[in-house]
Amino acid sequence: MHLKSLTLKGFKSFASATTLRFEPGITCVVGPNGSGKSNVLDALSWVMGEQGAKSLRGGKMEDVIFAGAGGRQPLGRAEVTLTIDNNDGALPIEYSEVSITRRIFRDGASEYEINGNSCRLMDIQELLSDSGIGREMHVIVGQGQLGAILESKPEGRRAFIEEAAGVLKHRRRKEKALRK
Ligand code: ATP
Ligand code: MG
Repeated sequence: MHLKSLTLKGFKSFASATTLRFEPGITCVVGPNGSGKSNVLDALSWVMGEQGAKSLRGGKMEDVIFAGAGGRQPLGRAEVTLTIDNNDGALPIEYSEVSITRRIFRDGASEYEINGNSCRLMDIQELLSDSGIGREMHVIVGQGQLGAILESKPEGRRAFIEEAAGVLKHRRRKEKALRK
């Protein structure tokens, strides 16, 4: 399984429809400051079901909609489609190619689709959850975080690794239970 393409329409700085195609292996996104590299990663998190506006570097979810720039008017909706190659059947669905679409309107209404069919956010999360890229299954190391990891003391570094491995939430729960 690998990510084939990502299409952004009205998402953050991507006012015009833009499609990025990926090959298997490592992908690098390069460009000047402010050109939209982090916005591409935000789009990837968002289409896979991110629910926190803060994680998307905004105040509220509608902030992902193109707000107007360079003489272009603000748009009424944002849409992102992620296409995944499923030839190895990693996703539990009878398609060799799976497209996931998420759309949001200015009034806050959202729409979700799997291969063009309307569905719930939950259906997308369930579809991805066994594949290793679902909610909390992938790790996005944000800008500035890398330096913080490299410069942190061993205990701090351990916390980063535990967070990535999903252990930290269990440790927090354990500590909470022991305090009672
Ligand atoms: P750097 O190299 O500094 O990290 P970057 O390539 O990661 O830059 P991004 O953070 O992806 O840049 O893009 C920032 C740009 O996106 C800013 O110019 C910002 O105004 C624009 N932007 C963010 N949200 C929106 C929006 N909703 N509508 C229009 N433009 C937006
Ligand atoms: Mg950036």
